[in-house]
Amino acid sequence: MTRYFEIEQRDGAARIGKLLLSPELRTPCILSTAELGKLENPGPVVDAGSFWGVKSDVELETHIKQIREKAGNGTLIILPHQAYPPAIPIESLRKVEKFTAFNSENTEDTGPTGSLLRVGGKPEKTDLYIMEGAGTMENNARRFLKTVIELRNQIPPDTALYAPNLALPENIAMLVYFGIDVLDDTRAEIAAYSDIYLTAAGRFYLDSLTEFPCRCRVCAESTPVEIGKLPKIERAKFLSAHNRNTLEAELSLVRERIRAGTLREYIEGQCRVRPWLTALLRLGDFEYSYLEERVPAFRQNQLLADTSEALSRIEVARFAQRIQERYTPPELEILVLFPCAAKKPYSISQSHQKFILALGKYRKFVHEVILTSPLGIVPRELELTYPAAHYDTAVTGHWDEEEKAWVSGCLEAYLSKHRYKAIVAHVEGAYREICERAASKLGIEIVYTATGSLVSMEALSNLKRTVESICTSESFSKKSLNAEEDKKNFVRAIAEYQFGEDAALLFCEETGKLAVKGRFPKHQLFSGKKQLATLVPQYGMLALSLEGAELMLKNEKYLVKIDDFLPRGSILAPGVTEADPGIRPNDEVIVLGKKALCVGRAVMSGEEMVKSSRGVAVDVRHIKKL
Ligand SMILES: [Zn+2]
Repeated sequence: MTRYFEIEQRDGAARIGKLLLSPELRTPCILSTAELGKLENPGPVVDAGSFWGVKSDVELETHIKQIREKAGNGTLIILPHQAYPPAIPIESLRKVEKFTAFNSENTEDTGPTGSLLRVGGKPEKTDLYIMEGAGTMENNARRFLKTVIELRNQIPPDTALYAPNLALPENIAMLVYFGIDVLDDTRAEIAAYSDIYLTAAGRFYLDSLTEFPCRCRVCAESTPVEIGKLPKIERAKFLSAHNRNTLEAELSLVRERIRAGTLREYIEGQCRVRPWLTALLRLGDFEYSYLEERVPAFRQNQLLADTSEALSRIEVARFAQRIQERYTPPELEILVLFPCAAKKPYSISQSHQKFILALGKYRKFVHEVILTSPLGIVPRELELTYPAAHYDTAVTGHWDEEEKAWVSGCLEAYLSKHRYKAIVAHVEGAYREICERAASKLGIEIVYTATGSLVSMEALSNLKRTVESICTSESFSKKSLNAEEDKKNFVRAIAEYQFGEDAALLFCEETGKLAVKGRFPKHQLFSGKKQLATLVPQYGMLALSLEGAELMLKNEKYLVKIDDFLPRGSILAPGVTEADPGIRPNDEVIVLGKKALCVGRAVMSGEEMVKSSRGVAVDVRHIKKL
């Protein structure tokens, strides 16, 4: 909780914000380490230094007072600290409790402050937390990740976290991805004085370069040979300017990636520069809940699944998990499995158009599910829902073992939960192998209808004949969905994906006859004359009306409770009293207070709404006075 930091934009755990100092600092930012020590002429952030040599609290207080007098309230003072290597257990530190107990609450200081924090340590009330020993964690992915997650869970979400002595152009994207807001140029300066030229693609010794792979102001005007001939101090000045420029350029790129919602795609490539960064990416996906809580329910942009780690990214894992846990198929007896198509939604692709045409009048008897990497399985009703209509992937025709295992695992889990009388698979190649694996594991039978090609006349008529013969067999119960039921099922599946069990509250017939109006995909759900929800085709989720929100109130899921006020526009975090911890950024939410009922879209997670004291929590769409 701080008056001096505001988050403006989020992309998972990464965020863009500003430290409200003079001058204002846009985060993520790089502090100049040399500037931190300038106590005589302070910039926006100064470091009061170590207190190893200080004898009493009074002496410390006087020290801080002196700095504050010179700096004014626009400067953040990093309070005196006593840093230990993280390897020293916290118990041993108790011996110096007298000094470490010193904190901003004990002082009369009124301006912004920063404090050192270690895992297991008690976070003091402050405006910037500094990760103790961050510099020792390079090459130790496990330790870094554990530390960031523990510290982030200890401190309020709307405070900035500073990892000193760690930033290099090659790693800042990854550090920011995990939630670091503030970095410094210590490592870049040390590199400069060691004749090391930094790039986002790695480090080079100056004398190993034939040309400069950079066109920054200093690089554009010289060559490695010219710089190599300069005296040591001049070389260091040159390298320092370039290294600093490279850090800033990379940071600008990272901020642009956050604004575009594509930081994940960037780090999936960028992490290959160092093994510890690749390890961080992979270990981060195992820490599912830390990232999942922060990753939005949908994005406006395309999801690129071009690496093997795309299989474990949050959006993919969450989609598979919700299909397994929340989705229920319609009551149909025949399942038809199709392969995915490059064009999205699948049903408008050429191949799927042909499949649909081939099924003809028998289509109302079958439930369609699409097999795909990396999403696993996509029921036809969810083909519009993020990220099913939003991903693109490298197609080679060759599936690696990991992809096959993942997709067949998804299919197996689905088929062991939902039973069909007959399963037809119009697939070939790896898709067929996937079906065969799932079938043999579950001991079920699947009929294959492709004949070397999926869209040849022969294959398509084979598909038609197979489904027809099942539909005309004596044991077939003729369960089907007519056009009206099909549309209802479509909207219900999306509601379940989005709201889980609570979707049933929207689909109870008590308040009036349910109907879905509007042509695909612009469906609207009505109960009698009341419109309950609208399907938003861009990301395949429902936007609730106030009437829909009223029905959804019962179980208090996706609910944000606010204080006794009538909102005008956005709801700010300080006005939130309670919020469902299941809420993710971009989720459709219901807002309830004594004076108003509203619907809107979450800007932050439920957890963050409750713990934050600044920032927009919900973008409100409709308000009803109570
Ligand atoms: Zn340069």
